[in-house]
Amino acid sequence: MPKAVAGPEIERLIQLLARLPGLGPRSARRAALHLIKKRDQLMGPLTDALETAHAKIVVCATCGNIDTHDPCTVCTDPGRDASVLVVVADVADLWALERAGAVSARYHVLGGTLSPLDGIGPQDLTIDALMSRAHQPAVKEVILALNATVDGQTTAHYITDLLHDANVKVTRLAHGVPVGGELDYLDEGTLSAAIRQRTLI
Ligand code: ZN
Repeated sequence: MPKAVAGPEIERLIQLLARLPGLGPRSARRAALHLIKKRDQLMGPLTDALETAHAKIVVCATCGNIDTHDPCTVCTDPGRDASVLVVVADVADLWALERAGAVSARYHVLGGTLSPLDGIGPQDLTIDALMSRAHQPAVKEVILALNATVDGQTTAHYITDLLHDANVKVTRLAHGVPVGGELDYLDEGTLSAAIRQRTLI
């Protein structure tokens, strides 16, 4: 254990910062020092922002997104196509798709993926709620935007089976060559998926 260089309050700040994703102990120390140096311009406003967000954060009862009001900004946006439901495992995936700006639809956050090894079954995810949403007459397409991992694809198959009698088109994200990707660097699984799912130009 390295010796503490500051009082317990500052050490606690560093320890908490070190728990953030992407920050190890060294960068947490650097971040803490930066905050301390910028007490007025950064630490004060950040403290206020954290307190406000902490007091107001709610999970949308409709889609599972995180926001400061329920129903959330996405669910109440009248400009979105209500006939398309994008199913994601996590809120981070919803936010990533929104950053890409490729789809203007409604979402459904499952809260994870099926994982028998970790003991995560259908009852641990919001699959029942998804079924009732997908059976609403307004919904015409369900896009399964799940990870291209074993768990993600298992979950996609499970949902596809459950939706076979619903009056919706079930689609999933394409697998293949990433934008800007070079074929020589791709793994065999990705390359063969790209060949199998080739599209007409
Ligand atoms: Zn919502």
